[in-house]
Amino acid sequence: QAKEKGLRHVMFNPAQTPDQARRLTIASELRRAIDGGDLRLYLQPKVDMVTGRVCGSEGLVRWQHATRGLIYPGEFIDLAESTGLIKPLTEWVIEAALSLNRGWAREGRALPIAVNLSARNLHDDELLTKIRQLHKALDVAPGLLEVELTESTVMEDAGFALQVLHDLRDDGIPLYIDDFGTGYSSLRYLQKLPVDYIKIDQSFVRHMSTHKDAALIVRSTIDLIHDLGRKAVAEGIETQQDWDQLALLGCDMAQGYLIAKPMPAEEFPAWVERFRP
Ligand code: C2E
Ligand code: CA
Ligand code: CA
Ligand code: CA
Repeated sequence: QAKEKGLRHVMFNPAQTPDQARRLTIASELRRAIDGGDLRLYLQPKVDMVTGRVCGSEGLVRWQHATRGLIYPGEFIDLAESTGLIKPLTEWVIEAALSLNRGWAREGRALPIAVNLSARNLHDDELLTKIRQLHKALDVAPGLLEVELTESTVMEDAGFALQVLHDLRDDGIPLYIDDFGTGYSSLRYLQKLPVDYIKIDQSFVRHMSTHKDAALIVRSTIDLIHDLGRKAVAEGIETQQDWDQLALLGCDMAQGYLIAKPMPAEEFPAWVERFRP
């Protein structure tokens, strides 16, 4: 098998740098983690800033490693992207998100879960089929699975991304542009995107209360989002001051440690139950 050949190559090829060898070892471990049930889906709530109600969550993956403990996506998503493991990883996340809502729907408390897609996923022409199959097999209503794509992912191949976004949207999947303000999308292009929500990058939100220019950017971004007829989401809200300032600016939705850190999916329903704005 190619995977094993790769490893043998590492061990017997002196030209292989320790770094490359380490990457390959981690990649094969990650592959086993995906297949062997060692990924965990954490959920971070999103709150409607007008009603104060929980209106959904973002699904964030973690790797429960036998010896290294809980590993954050910052440590393995890039590797998953460069090795092609992002495909099975994303499919695992989507299935986990839909399975949760299958259970919740039975108790009358379904809530949308947004999953993150990377550039490689956009170019996977089986993704849409897979999403349709899972919706059907798990009998989950459309709209309960949402998709987040970063501004830079979308801009990497703008024409192509536009087509995929339309396909997803046509299937009733609500779409978010993530990390907005860090890329370089033109207004004309933004206007064409079939997205419902635009998430203002955390870096602006975080500096809003201390840096005038960040506050100015947040304000004009929210206005721009509204002019385009979309909803503005702020993430990385850590203080009451951030919340108050964003509420004043008419931001629609909020996400951040002030409300809750990402939590194991099993804990989410009880958390929602307890949450009082
Ligand atoms: P992201 O999509 O921008 O997700 C938000 C990140 O910000 C999460 O980090 C979240 O825990 C963190 N965060 C949320 N609120 C706050 C806050 O108030 N303060 C601070 N300091 N941080 C906050 P996390 O879970 O470590 O994920 C990091 C990135 O990894 C994500 O950034 C996303 O790009 C990627 N990622 C996570 N799960 C997946 C996945 O299933 N697939 C893909 N392709 N990427 C994923
Ligand atoms: Ca995201
Ligand atoms: Ca983000
Ligand atoms: Ca990010």
